[in-house]
Amino acid sequence: MSKVAINGYGTIGKRVADAVALQPDMELVGVAKTRPNHEAETAVAKGYPLYAAIEERLPLFEEAGIEVAGTVEELVESADIVVDCCPSGIGADNKALYEAYDTPALYQGGESADLVDVSFNARGNFEQAEGADHVRVVSCNTTGLSRLLAPLQEEYGVKKARVTLVRRGGDPGQTSRGPINDILPNPVTLPSHHGPDVNTIFPDLAIDTLGMKVPATLMHTHSVNVQLEEVPTEEEVKALLAEESRLFLIPPEYDIDGAGKLKEFAMDRDRPRADIWENCIWEESISMEDDDLYLFQAIHQESDVIPENVDAIRAVLGTADREASIETTNEAIGVGF
Ligand code: NAD
Repeated sequence: MSKVAINGYGTIGKRVADAVALQPDMELVGVAKTRPNHEAETAVAKGYPLYAAIEERLPLFEEAGIEVAGTVEELVESADIVVDCCPSGIGADNKALYEAYDTPALYQGGESADLVDVSFNARGNFEQAEGADHVRVVSCNTTGLSRLLAPLQEEYGVKKARVTLVRRGGDPGQTSRGPINDILPNPVTLPSHHGPDVNTIFPDLAIDTLGMKVPATLMHTHSVNVQLEEVPTEEEVKALLAEESRLFLIPPEYDIDGAGKLKEFAMDRDRPRADIWENCIWEESISMEDDDLYLFQAIHQESDVIPENVDAIRAVLGTADREASIETTNEAIGVGF
């Protein structure tokens, strides 16, 4: 059993913790939080050992009546690997702590690619993370693009990908991002950081990305154009993408017209927190115009990176190869509609 610690128990951390707890080959040894709140209460209610991320704040947990198992240093020392799920930039500050205890670490997409030995996407470059000490699981958008571009590149070759990312303004619980009412080119300059980020997974892939932000919280939506080397039919592209376990082709007869209905669908299917771990590609949108492929996909920002974190743990610890890890992860958390 691989002993896994989570440092930073917010949107991503709590989901990674739940996913790790479900894996047959992993033990969640604890989660670290900076302060007591409803998430700390829930961690304890779920039976997850809770550690204080900042020692001086231990009394706050005691005052709130929340039982604490120790400090983050003790947690890091007891683990085979730490998954850092702290806000952007804090992971970089934490790196010295993980190095001090010689504990390998995963970081999230908000950290700089320079911080780590390798950036990771299970479908794109699992093997490159094998045995690495510091690995960054790329952001929700880069994960969504990598999963889509990997099979297209392998099967047809990509001349150039051009993607406009219409991004949600904040997560549902991120009250600090709102209230808002605007449509922003963001950034207004090209490229957005997403294209270069995809190149941390596929260094030679030609890709231009434009970013926008809109006042929505549910999901991101990508308008995708990929110019292909070999020209398939639309049916061939649909068949290729349908084979990918983390791509969900939305059947036209489901009558799902946007993120709202996708989330409703996830709730109806009893997904935890209405999470959607898969890229959601509108099957009807898959179109070929000469050598240009077009499609729309929606990405659930809070959850698509969760199975990737689980796979990155196995890559770093060398406990499974890509295929076996993806299969185990998917099976354990229930990926696939
Ligand atoms: P979040 O704010 O929801 O959660 C971060 C948690 O870390 C909070 O509970 C915070 O209190 C805690 N924290 C802060 N400082 C800490 C410290 N020093 N030690 C331990 N815990 C600390 O943030 P999030 O949305 O989960 O994002 C975490 C990372 O994941 C970022 O790099 C982000 O870019 C990335 N990411 C976020 C999303 C998303 O949509 N939310 C998607 C993909 C990747």
